[in-house]
Amino acid sequence: MKIDVLIEHGTVIDPSTGHSGKYDVAITGDRIVGILEPGTVGGDIQRRVNAEGCLVTPGLIDIHAHIFEAVPQMGVKPDNFGVDQGVTTIADAGSSGEQNFHDFVERSVKQNATEVLAWLNISSPGLVEGRSELADLNRLVVESTLARIAEYPETIIGIKARMSGSVVKGSGISPLAVAKSVARRAELPVMVHIGNAPPKLQDVLDLMEEGDVLTHAFHGKPGGILDEHGQLIPQAQRALDRGVRFDVGHGSASFSFATMNRARELGITPYSISTDLYLVNWLNGPVYSLTTTMTKFLALGYSIDQIIEWTTAAPARILRKSDDIGTLKVGTIADISILKIVDQPVELIDSENEKLSYNKLIQAQYTMKSGELYTCK
Ligand SMILES: [Zn+2]
Repeated sequence: MKIDVLIEHGTVIDPSTGHSGKYDVAITGDRIVGILEPGTVGGDIQRRVNAEGCLVTPGLIDIHAHIFEAVPQMGVKPDNFGVDQGVTTIADAGSSGEQNFHDFVERSVKQNATEVLAWLNISSPGLVEGRSELADLNRLVVESTLARIAEYPETIIGIKARMSGSVVKGSGISPLAVAKSVARRAELPVMVHIGNAPPKLQDVLDLMEEGDVLTHAFHGKPGGILDEHGQLIPQAQRALDRGVRFDVGHGSASFSFATMNRARELGITPYSISTDLYLVNWLNGPVYSLTTTMTKFLALGYSIDQIIEWTTAAPARILRKSDDIGTLKVGTIADISILKIVDQPVELIDSENEKLSYNKLIQAQYTMKSGELYTCK
């Protein structure tokens, strides 16, 4: 067998196939061609990558980040959050809408090594003209949005609706009703951002269906999934029972250690871990990267296997691409992350400025995207 790259001596964690332990990973062209017992690969090996002391996982997937440079003070080049940081696929979360989606494709999808997908904002300008994009219902243009979805079926994986007070102003729950009607016609999920009311979270949750994603699910603001006594609100339990998926979406203001800890006591876990990375919370924190966000879950006491599931196989299911990405299955595209858990003191900070001291940090070493190897920054 001719092998272009052999990633050897690493510890493979792939929740999609159940691999957890020492394996060598063989790549030919842009495909994974073998997950093999260490030292058993023979034949013509072009290049060896030494992953001693590292985790070898499916390429990490971030389903909520902002990578459209037309959005002032927010968008960055996708590779900054992508292959530079161990992430092979990013779904932009509503930076663009139907009116500027061509521009998004030209700038953010085509020019990068990282695979870029998009939740299309239900508001025509997306975030390009400001952050109150759902205040004027005239900006929700159903037929043009459906036309854009039909035009880019490979890239648009869902609809984004940001349902918090500063975004919707007087529009109430209406933008989500429009987003859901478009999504149903297009047979796509909706990603709903939550924050401060109005609208009330109860009303938001009642409109969400199986496969829809609640991002910022574990924020620390009033009116979240927990009531004032720390109990899960019934609408959230019913949403979970229906198959609504709770995503982290850390961001500058949307992830609380206290909320996460209380949710855990109640038996509620994230479905997926995403960052809500954009320019400011990348450079100045508290988010920095997907691996930093993963480190926070390690510090909160979750297992590395669980964390890898939430950043590979689970987001791949949300994107409905489980057959292609989020897996090291033989024959799939060679999207692979090589990560190291480094022993060093760190102070981790959530969006409420709560601090958590820890002694380990997950760092991305190398990213392989479609068989090409990138050194992380
Ligand atoms: Zn966001």
